Parts: sequence; structure tokens; C-alpha cells
Amino acid sequence: MLGCCSTYQYGDMELESVDEFMLPGCKTLNRAFGLPTLGHRDSSWKSELKMEDCFWVLLFVVLLSCLFGTLNASAGDSDPRYQVCLEQCKETGCVKDKCFQHCRFSSDGDSVDGPWYMQEPMYLQWKQWDCQSDCRYHCMLDTEKEKEVLGTGPVKYHGKWPFKRVFGIQEPVSVAFSALNLAMQFHGWLSLFIHLYYKLPLRPQNRKPYYEYSGLWFIYGLFAMNSWFWSAVFHSRDVDLTEKLDYSSAVALLGYSLIVAVLRTFNVRGEATRVMVAAPVLAFVTTHILYLNFFKLDYGLNMKVCVAMGITQLLLWAVWAGVSRHPSKWKLWAVVVGTSLAMLLEIYDFPPYQGYVDAHALWHATTIPLTYLWWSFIKDDAEFRTLDSLKKVK
Ligand SMILES: [Zn+2]
Repeated sequence: MLGCCSTYQYGDMELESVDEFMLPGCKTLNRAFGLPTLGHRDSSWKSELKMEDCFWVLLFVVLLSCLFGTLNASAGDSDPRYQVCLEQCKETGCVKDKCFQHCRFSSDGDSVDGPWYMQEPMYLQWKQWDCQSDCRYHCMLDTEKEKEVLGTGPVKYHGKWPFKRVFGIQEPVSVAFSALNLAMQFHGWLSLFIHLYYKLPLRPQNRKPYYEYSGLWFIYGLFAMNSWFWSAVFHSRDVDLTEKLDYSSAVALLGYSLIVAVLRTFNVRGEATRVMVAAPVLAFVTTHILYLNFFKLDYGLNMKVCVAMGITQLLLWAVWAGVSRHPSKWKLWAVVVGTSLAMLLEIYDFPPYQGYVDAHALWHATTIPLTYLWWSFIKDDAEFRTLDSLKKVK
């Protein structure tokens, strides 16, 4: 059983060297990773730390127990009414009296009508995707209508609540928030670049930044922007390809940010140690992405993997913020607390209000200000570390 006192014991720890940027309770881990032992100047941190740790470990346990209790694959997919409707729609191209032009295929898969260029395989693929999407959408509406008559509440279909389309966009609110997140990530990424290369001093020998984590954060920005791009695409058009691209990008971002969290909180600067930390996470994330794409897109399993990776890095940052003397640790606290609260929206998922705003859309809204604060922390960290390195040089 995971408990605050059995997990973190610092009381009897020997505090030797001083490094204010290291995590506590990780002496054994540091040894395993070949890192220097940690310590702290202030002895009063021990009692404060226990309180904070208890809070976070408790939150972690509560979130995980909720998670395993509530996560299931989408219930709507297995509804026999929905399945029968989908099968019929694929064959006939119609749901009740509504027929879709994208679904007009002959039995050998060729388009029934249209000029030759419209019968090219690529176009056919798009048509099949459109047909599947139309069938899924109208079968979902139909099943939901039937359920409403019976007085049962809405359920999810292929990982999503039944939404109303606007101009063919499936979840317009989530698309708008994803686009704003993408813009915010780009703003943060660019401003870090400007800060490092134009505002802070550069190493005279190679004109490179002093900040040892600049490369890691630049790549992080690329993963984040890629993830929000595919999120916007997926929320506007839900087909197998966009769904897999969105899920894979999100897993890749979470995996990469976990690596960055470990490297930064443990202050890992050596190339070999960095590779040693990154390799198992990369292997796990790659396997998981391959599993999702080529074996089974298991929503429940994916959610568990994502939340486990998300909570692990939140805990790392939280404990680090608790013990470090970083001047901008309040930003870190704000991001950690804000993200934890926002994660509740993903866990206590509720159906869309009026068919438009659901918990997931609100979760995308909350990450916009958090992203701004996050990049602001990264810029502060770059400045802090640069000034620290300059002091050491002098
Ligand atoms: Zn989303």
C-alpha cells in the first residue's frame, strides 16, 4: 500500500552535499543513476516536506483509485442498436431515411458513379473515411434518440460523447481551444528561443546558451505543438487516422515531458545518464504507440497509461518545487495544482452541455493559461540557471 510515511523517509537520511535543485528521498535512486547525493541547507524543510508529500501522495492515490474505478472502453461502441445501425449503414449507405453520398460503393469497393479520377484509390480511401464518419455520427444520434425515449443518459462512442456538428466540425469548442493551445505553445516556444539567444548571455566559445536544458525544451515545444495540431484535427474530424494521430501524439508528448521532468528535477546533465533515463521511457512509449496503432486502440488502457505518466511527472515537479529554492517555484506550484485540478475534468468526465461544451473541452480551455505560465517558468529557469553558471565561471 502506498503511504506517505512508508514511501518517503528522510528523517534518518544523512544530508551531505548541497544541491538545492535536487529531489529529496532520492538518494538511493541517485546512486542507482550515478548522480551526486543530495542535500539541503535548511534543516526545517524536513517537516514541511512531509506535509506536502502526504498531500501529493494522497492526491495521487485518490486519483488513481478513481481512475481504475471509472475508466472503461466507450460504452456506446458495444451497444447492439449502434452496432446493427453501423453494419446496415456500411452496406446500404443509409441510416433510416438519411443516405450519404460518400457511402455509394459497389461490392468490389469501386465507386458506383463519378468520372475515372474520382475512382482513384486515394480518393476512395477518403470516401470510405467519410462514409464511416457519417455512419458513426448518424448511428450515434439515432441510438441516443432511442435511449432518450427510454430515459437513459448519453454514453460515449469511440472515446467521445455524442456532439452536435457545426459546419461539419464535430467538436467546434474543443477545436477552438486546441488551436489556442497550439498558438500558446508556439508563443512560449518562440519566446524561450528569443530569451535564450537575444536576452541572456551566450557562451563565448560557441555562441550557445548556458542553460543546459534548452535543447530538451525546444524539442518539448515541437512535441507539444504537434500534439495540439492533431488534437484540433481530430476534434474537427473523427476518423481512424486522425484519432490514432491524436492519441499517438498525446502519448509521445506525455512520454517526452516525463523524460524532461526526470532530467530537470534530478538535475541530470551528463549525456550518458540522460540516455539511460530516456531509453526505458522511449521504449515503453514506442511500444504503447505501436500497440495502439497496429494492435488495438484500447481507450481504457491508454487513459491509464496517460494518467500514470501525467501524475508521475506532476509528483516529480511538486516535490521538487517543495524542496528547491527556485525563485519561480510558485509558477511551478500553480501549474501543478492547476493541472491536477484540470485532470479531474478528464477523470470526472461529463457529457456535453447542449451537445457542445463537455468536460474535455473545458480541460482544453484550462490548459491555455497553464501553458502560458509553464513557458514563463521555463524562461525563468533558463535565466536562473544561466546566472548561476555565470557566477560559477567568475
Ligand atoms: Zn482533446
